[in-house]
Amino acid sequence: MNAALPKPAISVVIPIYNEQAGLAALFARLYPALDRLGERYEIVFVNDGSRDQSVSILAEQFRARPDVTRVVLFNGNYGQHMAILAGFEAARGEIMVTLDADLQNPPEEIGKLIAKMREGYDYVGSIRRKRCDSAWRTYASKAMNRLRERITNIKITDQGNMLRAYGRNVVDLMNQCREVNTFVPALAYRFARKPTEIVVEHEERAAGESKYSLYSLIRLNFDLITGFSLVPLQMFSMLGMMLSLVSAALVVGLLVRRLFLGAEADGVFTLFAIAFFLMGVILFGIGLLGEYIGRIFQQVRARPRYVVQAVLEQQPCLSVVAPIGVEKRLVSRIDE
Ligand code: UDP
Ligand code: MG
Repeated sequence: MNAALPKPAISVVIPIYNEQAGLAALFARLYPALDRLGERYEIVFVNDGSRDQSVSILAEQFRARPDVTRVVLFNGNYGQHMAILAGFEAARGEIMVTLDADLQNPPEEIGKLIAKMREGYDYVGSIRRKRCDSAWRTYASKAMNRLRERITNIKITDQGNMLRAYGRNVVDLMNQCREVNTFVPALAYRFARKPTEIVVEHEERAAGESKYSLYSLIRLNFDLITGFSLVPLQMFSMLGMMLSLVSAALVVGLLVRRLFLGAEADGVFTLFAIAFFLMGVILFGIGLLGEYIGRIFQQVRARPRYVVQAVLEQQPCLSVVAPIGVEKRLVSRIDE
C-alpha cells in the first residue's frame, strides 16, 4: 500500500466486529505491550462491517497514534478469517501476529511469539494453557480438534486459538490464494516450512459477547474440514460400499428364506428401523456433498471475497517524498 513509509518489523492484525465495549481496554494494553518490545511495529485493525460505534472508536485511535495504526474498513460482514486475510494484504511487516480484539489473547504474550519466530521458525502457533470459555465450547472444540487431527494432515494442537505469528514467506503465499471459505491457521500451516507451537495464557472475554453462534461455529468447522480434507467424502464412498455388501447379503438371505420357508411378513418394524437409519445416512451424505458443492459454487463465481470501503493510514510525509519544487509550491500556496 504505502511503499514510501519505512517497513515495520512486526504487523499485528486484529479483526473487529461489534467490539465497541472492549476496544478502549484493548488499546490500553496493546500499545504499551508493543512499545515495550522496542521494535518498529504497525497495528492493522480490520473492521468487519461492525454496526456499533467500533468504526468511530478506531478512527479516533488512528488519529491518536497514526504512526503505528492503520484501519481497513470493510463495507459489510465477511467473517473473521476474511478480515484477517485482508489485514495480511495490507500489512507490511516481516512478522505478522494475529489476535482477537476481545483481550482473550493477552497482548503481553506477543513478545513470546516474536522471540520464538526469531529462533528461525516461520509459523508459531499457540496453545491456551487454561482455556477461559464456556464448558460446552471447550468440550466441542476439543472434539473437533481430535476429528481434524485424524482427517486432515494439519497438526495444530489448539485450532480455535488465533494468537499466532506468521513469517512473511507464509503470508505472501496466503496472499496469493483466492479461497473464499478458509481457515487461516490451517492455510498457514500448509505453507510453513518450520512450524512450532508455544503455550500462552488465555483470559475471559473483556467485554461484549462471542460473535459466534452455534450455527456459525458449525459453518466455520465445515470450512476447516472441507477446505483441507477429502476424507469425509471418501469415508462416505467406503460406507456406501460396505452397506451395499451388507444389503446384497440380506437380499440373498431373504431370497433363500423365501424359497425354503415361504413369504414372511414379520419383522416389519425392524425393516422400518433399518430403512430410516439408511435414509438418515443418505441424507447426511447428500448434505455433506452439498457442503463441498456449495463451496465450489462460491469459488467458481469468483466474486470479490471482501470489499474494502476505505483504509485509514498515514500518507508519506511530503517533505520526504515530494520533489523540492512541489514542496515549495505547497508552501507558497499556503502563504498566498
Ligand atoms: N470477528 C470478526 N467477524 C466476525 C466474527 C468475529 O471479525 O464475523 C472477530 C471478533 O471481533 C474478534 C474475533 O473475530 O476480534 C474473535 O471473535 P470472538 O471473540 O467473538 O470469537 P470466540 O472467542 O468466541 O471464538
Ligand atoms: Mg473471543
